[in-house]
Amino acid sequence: MIVEIVTTGTELLLGQIINTNAPYLAQRLNELGFNVLFQSTVGDNRERMAQVLTTALSRADIVITSGGLGPTQGDITKEVTAGLLNLPMHVHEPSVRRIELFFEKRAAIMPSNNLRQAMMAKGAIVLDNDRGTAPGAILETGDKTIIHLPGPPYELEGMFEAAVVPYLQQRFGLQGIILSRVLKTFEIGESSLEDEIKDLIIAQTNPTIALLAQSSEVLIRITAKGESKEAALASIDSIERKIRERLGDKIFAVDEETMESVVGKMLTAKQLTIACAESCTGGLLTSRITDVPGSSDYLLGSVVCYSNEIKVAAVKVGADILAEHGAVSEETAKAMCKGIRQQFNTDIGLGTTGIAGPGGATTEKPVGLVYIAVDGPAGTKCYKNEFSGSREKIKYRTTQTALNILRKYIGTL
Ligand code: ATP
Repeated sequence: MIVEIVTTGTELLLGQIINTNAPYLAQRLNELGFNVLFQSTVGDNRERMAQVLTTALSRADIVITSGGLGPTQGDITKEVTAGLLNLPMHVHEPSVRRIELFFEKRAAIMPSNNLRQAMMAKGAIVLDNDRGTAPGAILETGDKTIIHLPGPPYELEGMFEAAVVPYLQQRFGLQGIILSRVLKTFEIGESSLEDEIKDLIIAQTNPTIALLAQSSEVLIRITAKGESKEAALASIDSIERKIRERLGDKIFAVDEETMESVVGKMLTAKQLTIACAESCTGGLLTSRITDVPGSSDYLLGSVVCYSNEIKVAAVKVGADILAEHGAVSEETAKAMCKGIRQQFNTDIGLGTTGIAGPGGATTEKPVGLVYIAVDGPAGTKCYKNEFSGSREKIKYRTTQTALNILRKYIGTL
């Protein structure tokens, strides 16, 4: 079954609101096994809406619209469809009563133009709106189906789940189910990753494997279609195992997990505490660690030691180390992670020092040079990195790499 999603509203075309209805519907329809092959957006204009709906009906079995069911003259979706299908419109009395009741419950007076919302094309299956006033509608015409949903996302989602999903399943039967899982990798570029699993990518038709490069990680999306949720999950599990055999701990997270949430889980599981001494990251590392709910169980505190004076005073980095090697050096990074660990009495200390740019570089110490050091029960380790990109990118990459270093360090404990 081919589906086209048509989102309506001039605000969408002007970029005044973000279209969240289309991705919501697309994701849910794909999960239900329908093929969403087209998405269109059109303003509140009769001719253009008629044009878009005519095209949609010519190439899809099911057309789902969002928006334009409201009470004003600009809300025209139902009228345009009725016109296209040559259907007369009439007042749908049960909807009139529901809308009246909606206002009564809120002790408000119903503006007369709200009755427009109860106007329905002849033969429409009316969908109640439990979260607002505008009812939705389904029109079956030959082998095509048009479904009208309200624009406000809360109303659209409520109506889709309560009325459209049961309708689609009853009318079109089970379409199978499509599920995806995303494996997040670090420390490997897109082309090396492709080389590692090329044979799996080529051999697979169900599940399919797709790579998606992001600024500091590459995602592997596995998508499976199965007759049931269990069947789809089983085939995802089996291909995930094969990918993990190749990539090992280069895979750091799955789906919604982040580097910081994974590290948080590991610290919690091993009952370890941590503190950071941050120079070039300016607190971003600690900020990311504290993005995870429950991080107070393991993060005791941090110091943003931007100046040499604070490195000495608050983190107890030796003034001689700074004088001899400079703030951006392996020696200083090591002294920072050891110092913060001792000062805050934690199991692990982490230190970041580098040149985020654009200024501050010398010939020996270019922009992007960053030392990240960790100290803990397995000793002190320091990693030299040369990142590229803007100041923000260098700061972010430093935190991602620091968290990854931490992940691997904890893994050895
Ligand atoms: P109402 O009954 O509230 O008038 P409606 O069905 O006529 O709803 P619209 O008037 O098109 O829908 O949109 C109402 C509001 O819903 C918009 O101002 C916007 O906040 C939200 N909305 C509409 N379409 C979308 C969309 N595609 N994605 C996200 N939000 C949307």
